[in-house]
Amino acid sequence: MTFEPFQLDPALMRAVSDAGYTIPTPIQGDAIPVALSGADLVGTAQTGTGKTAAFVLPILQHLLSKPSQGKTRALIVCPTRELAEQIHESIRTLAKHTRIRSNTVYGGVSMGFQTRALRDGTDIIVACPGRLLDHVNQGNVDFRNVKHLVLDEADRMFDMGFLPQVRKVVALLPKQRQTLLFSATMPREVEELAREVLQKPERINIGVQKPATTVMHALYPVEPHLKAQLLVALIKHTDAYAMLVFTRTKHRADKLARAIEKAGFPSAALHGDRSQGQRQRALDDFKRGKLQVLVATDIASRGLDIETVSHVINYDVPATPDDYIHRIGRTGRAERTGDAFTLVTHEDRDLVRDIERAVGKPIERRKLDDFDYGAKSAPAEPRPEPANQVNRRPAIGQGATSGGFGRGRSSGRPQGNGRNDRLPMRPPQPATRPASDERPAASNDRREPVAMQSGELRPVGIQPIKLGKLPEHLREHTDSSRSPSRPNNPRRRRPQRG
Ligand code: AMP
Repeated sequence: MTFEPFQLDPALMRAVSDAGYTIPTPIQGDAIPVALSGADLVGTAQTGTGKTAAFVLPILQHLLSKPSQGKTRALIVCPTRELAEQIHESIRTLAKHTRIRSNTVYGGVSMGFQTRALRDGTDIIVACPGRLLDHVNQGNVDFRNVKHLVLDEADRMFDMGFLPQVRKVVALLPKQRQTLLFSATMPREVEELAREVLQKPERINIGVQKPATTVMHALYPVEPHLKAQLLVALIKHTDAYAMLVFTRTKHRADKLARAIEKAGFPSAALHGDRSQGQRQRALDDFKRGKLQVLVATDIASRGLDIETVSHVINYDVPATPDDYIHRIGRTGRAERTGDAFTLVTHEDRDLVRDIERAVGKPIERRKLDDFDYGAKSAPAEPRPEPANQVNRRPAIGQGATSGGFGRGRSSGRPQGNGRNDRLPMRPPQPATRPASDERPAASNDRREPVAMQSGELRPVGIQPIKLGKLPEHLREHTDSSRSPSRPNNPRRRRPQRG
């Protein structure tokens, strides 16, 4: 199937083609005709499935079919600033051959520019609910012409305590409108919201709560005090050009990003306490390859659209299987391939069991042969780098040779040929990897590492990750079959403002 049957405006078809979309993704194949018909829609789809274009294209088509009157005609409400920026970016991409414009509205930045956009009647507003209501209270908003409403990542808005604000926003909109609701999961509260704000919606369900098949999962059992050392060892050993690392808290994200940077890998933290400018800079640097590692919290994980994430590493096991699926949804996007590694300690065994249930099969346990799993303790902070090493970026296969974490042993691998002193970059990979079930045994699971120099791809010397048998004490910690049964993990989030 192609995009032709949707009979989109030629300006949209050109943009679709410019974006390199040739075949609609399953959610697009199902949702676009429904949304074009004007019906309400509840779409259950995980992130990374192409759902943004599934609602952006029909909205653009509807807006193009009627002359603009300089009024806001579509409103997209989503949970985080990052997601708002990405949706805005997607609109820019798909509307680039039209005069339709969008603007974002979210907290953490000044209200002035947003106020002008709202008063000028930008065609599409992409907003987080808290800041949008601030504008409502200041009288900056005229929603009388809004004909299309999208509630994106509704389950995450529920998790973050935003549903009361969402209801307030919806109450301000004209009753005659189309409403599209997208959610990765459908908790009862989101079902209730859908019943309240949608009229006779069509329902589309794409691969609910299953991670993308292009992602390869592995668990790395480790004692809690050695997690940071193991992470750095993994970064050194792995063919990773863009690694997204998740921690449980903002503080841990900051501390870990500093430690990774000190170990020689360009890194930054992404979380809600950083200013919008800092967050955007970190994202841009990561997308451009200036940063090899981005350390993020869960808030930052939703909707992050970075096509080239090669590895997601759960430094801390996520609190729920949903979070696991959303985190790893940052890699293996839109049929690309990616690896999802999770560091697990004995305290995580119940969570691991829940995650394996969600994934639908046991996840392989792995071990780095050259890592000292028996080390007694590690210093709180890594040792400082010698001055001449501090800003030097290791090449793939080279890693940081000094200044690592405490007693972490050097891999003993060849250290490259001395020419690899630049951050290795790899262009986005086409979807060549088979579905995870068909993948070869882990010890053979190695892609040819390459580094880019003078625009040319060439192999660099790297040893495969050596896989060995886990020490008995660690196998016990993560053996889900032995864990006692436990009720489902409760959601444990405090409300936050978008
Ligand atoms: P989303 O789930 O909307 O965040 O989309 C994930 C990624 O898929 C984005 O980078 C999109 O640019 C990309 N994408 C969306 N639709 C298609 C398509 N039909 N073909 C290829 N890539 C797509």
